[in-house]
Amino acid sequence: MCSKCDDKVPKAMARYGDRGTPFEGKPLCEPCYEQSSPGAIVFYGHSDDGCVITDTRNATNGDFRLRWHSTSPVSGFYDTESDSYEKLSSSHLLAEHESLGMIKSMDDRIKKLYDREGLQYARVITMSSNPFVHDYHVFVENDQVPLGKDLVQKAKEAVDYDNPKWYRNILFSEDQFNLLAELFPEREIRTDYDAAKVVDEYGENITSEIDRRMKLKPPAIMGDLYIV
Ligand SMILES: [Zn+2]
Repeated sequence: MCSKCDDKVPKAMARYGDRGTPFEGKPLCEPCYEQSSPGAIVFYGHSDDGCVITDTRNATNGDFRLRWHSTSPVSGFYDTESDSYEKLSSSHLLAEHESLGMIKSMDDRIKKLYDREGLQYARVITMSSNPFVHDYHVFVENDQVPLGKDLVQKAKEAVDYDNPKWYRNILFSEDQFNLLAELFPEREIRTDYDAAKVVDEYGENITSEIDRRMKLKPPAIMGDLYIV
């Protein structure tokens, strides 16, 4: 029986999940083995040729292992781990978001810095249940971790990685964000997460609270969050 779809598979026809996949060593039917979609892509060094890992196949031969973390019965994200490489950094890749360009230049810098120092490294993209959110990770070989960390930090500083501006407009539009920041000055809203926290705390009362604050001090910025 196929471990993934429960279809009957004659023993002679069975395929087995590759090393380092969630179905490692388990019997699978041909379509489930062959047609599984990527959970992670591993790029060794500066190479642009990725080694794909699905939940049944692993082009890194188990060098990297794929893990699924569920955040609810219908959502979650993939992560990777390795015995020979250590993860030094992880960042969200948000489709159509302005931070993408920043992460791209960070990646370019990391390749240059690591190549110059002769480090053995891998860049890994992992998928999630949200088709618009991927993660980008930097791994370096275990015995090169201290230098690897210093260089990641250098690359991050060069691209202004920690600037809160990159972490805005993920959940709110620019207008919505500015309106919330102005109406809730005591909350020092600097990122989308700060704004989301405020909205979360007020729950269904958020609209009346915005209403109340608008009357007290009409904001200079009129966002599409609030229509008079
Ligand atoms: Zn199957």
